[in-house]
Amino acid sequence: MPPVTTTLAGTAGPDTSAKAGPAAGPEGCCTPAVGLEKLLDRSGLLLAEAAAATAGVRLPSFDQLPVAGVAEAACVAVPVPVADDPLVPVGLAGPVSVVSAYFQAGMSGAPEQVWLRASASAAVAQAAGKLAAISGGQMGVCVLDGWRPLTVQQTLAADAAAVAGGYVATPSEDPLAPPAHLSGGAVDVTLSWQGRPLALGTGFDAFCQHAHIRSVAPESPAGRLRRLLTAAVTASGFVAYDREWWHVELGTRRWAHHTRQLAYLPAAAPPAG
Ligand SMILES: [Zn+2]
Repeated sequence: MPPVTTTLAGTAGPDTSAKAGPAAGPEGCCTPAVGLEKLLDRSGLLLAEAAAATAGVRLPSFDQLPVAGVAEAACVAVPVPVADDPLVPVGLAGPVSVVSAYFQAGMSGAPEQVWLRASASAAVAQAAGKLAAISGGQMGVCVLDGWRPLTVQQTLAADAAAVAGGYVATPSEDPLAPPAHLSGGAVDVTLSWQGRPLALGTGFDAFCQHAHIRSVAPESPAGRLRRLLTAAVTASGFVAYDREWWHVELGTRRWAHHTRQLAYLPAAAPPAG
């Protein structure tokens, strides 16, 4: 793909990211949870190759992107009727690929397909289409997780009990105040390059400071690709999460708080069948 000057999001401008946290190498240094280590392609060469393809793309800085924090998960607003935005399986279409991470890892109760609210699924497809368009079809979005049943949230929370830092939401059973993934509006994604899902500085579910979205130098390969992915998904309506570069939300309580919306998605029922 020849370098072409492209602005991905309306907010793009000079990169004013002044600070880079601890540098995570292309392969990162954090260990993902058991069963997830090989989920993403950790080749630094692939990362560099994909980043080089973005040479002509003007990327927003991390500070110009809608990135929400831990405290923004709680929101007092009006729940949207579930029927207005039903759960649908994420479809495989061109630039959208799916790897159901916890199912692949053998976790009990994890759905084989990834399910999302229809609004979130459509936004993923839109973001993937943008990435494909700027990369001559070489980039897309790989979806790793979406809606979760409470049992999976409970397992993840138990497994991460020793890790502090807001990586796994408390498995609340309140249908009006669910963990984001129980609403069907939270989705874990990464960038795919030539069909391979990339580890953007760390593996998926590497719960450490290198997973923080701003923890990489903005012009490093992982930094450019995190900004590219985040710009694409947030331009389609999602809000990113500052603790996990892979986690974005649309229609959730965190999204409602960050975007000052009055409505959010409550917990969703399990998919039929
Ligand atoms: Zn997530």
